[in-house]
Amino acid sequence: MSRIFKINNKEDARLLRQKTQNLSKEEILGADTEKMKKEMAKLLSKEKFGVAIAAPQAGYNKSCFLISAHTFAHAKQEEFDPKKHKSRFFFNPEIIKHSKKKIESDEGCLSVPLKYSYSVPRFEKVTVRYLDEDAKEQTINASGFLARVLQHEFDHLQGVLYTDKAKKVIDVDEELRPINKDGHEK
Ligand SMILES: [Zn+2]
Repeated sequence: MSRIFKINNKEDARLLRQKTQNLSKEEILGADTEKMKKEMAKLLSKEKFGVAIAAPQAGYNKSCFLISAHTFAHAKQEEFDPKKHKSRFFFNPEIIKHSKKKIESDEGCLSVPLKYSYSVPRFEKVTVRYLDEDAKEQTINASGFLARVLQHEFDHLQGVLYTDKAKKVIDVDEELRPINKDGHEK
């Protein structure tokens, strides 16, 4: 059964710390990727605090992450509408442009249990080029929250965790998970 890989498990950590492999267009359209996508979507949907999930978090050494439909709605400060907001897979993503400016904000991670940070510096704006699930090349310009999510997920594919970049990481109680100022849990 699929599960979220966690950094405090030695075997899991080995995969989480690896740089992932790019997929060919044929691979993106293949049956193995279909299976991986289903598992990632299922794992993400089960997580109350899930914003996105990267393939290594589901046990796959592949350059792929999934951002939830709710995250796109939240990023646009819109009410979630399943017709309008769709979850999206990103394959072989590259950050092709970014702002000079970085901003610090809060982050947590499904693979780093019971930790949180209010001070992870990220570029304010990024442009990411990637292949979509039809293996078509796409570009996305993002700022603020969505730019942060894209950078967090991109880092997973390099074996990097937010705890490597945070100025300070705090321990949190399972029951007392911090909530954003706007009331959204990450
Ligand atoms: Zn993460």
